[in-house]
Amino acid sequence: MAAAFHFELLAQSGQARAGVFHTPHGPVPTPAFMPVGTQSVVKTLTWEQVKTCGASMVLSNAFHLYLRPGHQLVAEAGGLHQWMNWQGPILTDSGGFQVFSLANINKLTEEGVTFQSPIDGSRHLITPEVSMDIQMALGADVAMAFDECPPYPVTPETAKESLLRTIRWLERCQTHHQRADQALFPIIQGSTFLPLRDLSVALTLERAPDAYGYAIGGVSVGEPPDLVADIVRHTAPQLPTHKPRYLMGVGTPHDLWQGVMAGVDLFDCVMPTRVARHGAFYTPTGRRVITNKGFERDFTPLDPTCDCFSCTHHTRAYIRHLFKAEENTGKSLLSIHNIRFLIRWMDQLREAILAGAPLETLPQFWQPAHQATVAAES
Ligand SMILES: [Zn+2]
Repeated sequence: MAAAFHFELLAQSGQARAGVFHTPHGPVPTPAFMPVGTQSVVKTLTWEQVKTCGASMVLSNAFHLYLRPGHQLVAEAGGLHQWMNWQGPILTDSGGFQVFSLANINKLTEEGVTFQSPIDGSRHLITPEVSMDIQMALGADVAMAFDECPPYPVTPETAKESLLRTIRWLERCQTHHQRADQALFPIIQGSTFLPLRDLSVALTLERAPDAYGYAIGGVSVGEPPDLVADIVRHTAPQLPTHKPRYLMGVGTPHDLWQGVMAGVDLFDCVMPTRVARHGAFYTPTGRRVITNKGFERDFTPLDPTCDCFSCTHHTRAYIRHLFKAEENTGKSLLSIHNIRFLIRWMDQLREAILAGAPLETLPQFWQPAHQATVAAES
């Protein structure tokens, strides 16, 4: 069964790679953007709509599903694929990031993390073993190691202590993880300190030389975008060539571009759907806000170059009206477009890499400065 996991590297241009990540639930052409279904649903969308956006692999969160409805209930339903009726590949996040970012932490010890549920205040202890139990019950194709995810900024001493604990926790995850039809990805930590990233890579590869993939975590926790780019450019090329590399929680179009250039294969982020619910949509020339007065009589699609359901069926004026009238369908239509936009963007980069085209020739939209300008205009 384990042989179902295999990464095929098809082409490389500089550090950028095009490949296929094979999983028990099918292949994932890479680079790939994974839409996020935090509560086992991509907010405002059906799974059929997510599929129509071209998604091949999706992400859900062990932390949220553990708290509600409970991983045992999902297991009773036949596992996550059956529960949400998504038959393609799924990855579950271990809960590490959520415990450290969303929960009220009571105690962090070598054993694990005690925290209060953001839903009802109840107390819980998550250990590497508990995280593995939850993820094995959910039964996604890829489970993530339970890691400590320090905030930004931290001192180098704290970051080092934290990454060493993450390595010890990785060993416990490996010992406890028992599903042969599920890959376990370790997570590289080390905050913004490049020598600590090197240490984390070295220790992770020592402990888990045969993992089916590796993740870069501890980014997107509030550090400046330039630092994220430095970390990724520095870390990704050190990971094994013939394994998929997953950059956790990073997702503006510009971030994706930088990640692909650095040799990352898998991405996830709530950004495209979160900004959509607030009325923002992506275009090749920047992010726009649908409620702008200027779109009142704009009878063109959100993005004339886009082939998504929203762009082929509706106008900016209509979707603006839905937002003004507080109709939820507007949020769905922008979410569909934004997800499709990122997936097309990954597809375009993939085709360019496969064709041997110089990547510099592709449009490098979404420079942070440009984004800021657009935001100021809207
Ligand atoms: Zn569209």
